[in-house]
Amino acid sequence: MCSGRVDLEFVLRAFANGMDGVFIGGCRLNECNYITHGNYDALNMVLLCRKIMAHIGLNPERLSVEFMSSGDGIRFTEIIDDFSRKVKALGPLGKADEIDPDELKSKLEDVRKLVPYIKIAKREKLASRLANKEEYDGLFTSEEIDTLFSEAVSYHINPEKCQACMICYRRCPVDAIAGGKNLIHVIDQDQCIKCGTCFEVCPPRFGAVDKIPGRPVPPPIPEAERTIVR
Ligand code: SF4
Ligand code: SF4
Repeated sequence: MCSGRVDLEFVLRAFANGMDGVFIGGCRLNECNYITHGNYDALNMVLLCRKIMAHIGLNPERLSVEFMSSGDGIRFTEIIDDFSRKVKALGPLGKADEIDPDELKSKLEDVRKLVPYIKIAKREKLASRLANKEEYDGLFTSEEIDTLFSEAVSYHINPEKCQACMICYRRCPVDAIAGGKNLIHVIDQDQCIKCGTCFEVCPPRFGAVDKIPGRPVPPPIPEAERTIVR
């Protein structure tokens, strides 16, 4: 019902599934029927996603958002016709952007895994309601998106400090933590979506979860060495 419901993940998934272009239509800004003004959320998400697309080598013109009312039938038709023409002129996704299909697939997969992290890292800007177009043009910069990815935070459980209380194991939303009673817990970095929950819930007296920005995470300790002898 609301353009604000269109998540960054939905757009990236559409491109990962081979769509050449994505169009999002929302109600006119400042004319939301509710108090949520979700169309601003859609606009901010699109601006962020367009920068991310440029970062991975996709033409950001493949993603568009427009705002109109139910009385704008003719305008809607014109906008859709224009967008269709533009996407056709851009050519097939990846090929026309001169990215190898496997490389594009892998880049989109990497970004999709980071969506929860991106949404947390950019939550204030994603909730912006700015006054004019000029401010929106500069809401997200290319440099900031480069930094966002180069300094992406990883989480690591310090085997010296973990007390196997299992709190992080139970709270991880994607089952990315291997653990059990009297076992040092270990994060599967391929599964981890960098939500930060384990960092927040690990009791301060243990402080076993480290936040590691922009550097490789130490390798997991071998399974044979995970038992805690008390
Ligand atoms: S940051 Fe921690 S809780 Fe969040 S997905 Fe990764 S391992 Fe799980
Ligand atoms: S919450 Fe902390 S101490 Fe408890 S199992 Fe997880 S990392 Fe170990």
